[in-house]
Amino acid sequence: MRIGFGYDVHRLEPGRPFVVGGVLIPHHKGAVGHSDADVLIHAIMDALLGAAALGDIGQHFPDTDPRYKDADSKWLLEKVMLLLHQQGMMIGNIDATVCLQQPKISPYIPEMKRVLCELMQLNPDQLSIKATTTEKLGFVGREEGVAAQAVALVRSSR
Ligand code: MG
Repeated sequence: MRIGFGYDVHRLEPGRPFVVGGVLIPHHKGAVGHSDADVLIHAIMDALLGAAALGDIGQHFPDTDPRYKDADSKWLLEKVMLLLHQQGMMIGNIDATVCLQQPKISPYIPEMKRVLCELMQLNPDQLSIKATTTEKLGFVGREEGVAAQAVALVRSSR
């Protein structure tokens, strides 16, 4: 068993689509980034890469590469899954938390789980997605940004 940790932050600005965990969240602000800025998928990808000691998403998908401009992060996660499988690694479980002041995203968590479990071929009990505010403290509390953290256990079949 190997453990990995991932952390990501994106700035929130008006007039951007807000995609979290592969689900479009209706909101007057959205996350800014080179790709679609899906903070939850990015944290999960970094946790998986970390568990496999395969670097980070910045190395695999540099923000200077036009192929990843406005890229769907679900596609990037598929590439990470391929890397894991090439290393003979399988996911044990993932636990993630999204830190966001507004809007409430708990109603969208079941859909995020459905999308991400299908993508990573996990059973629902292998993926946990939680949400918290920061009690109006810091950049998340001021609604300037969104953060996500994830840990992943990965099994090596070799
Ligand atoms: Mg990111």
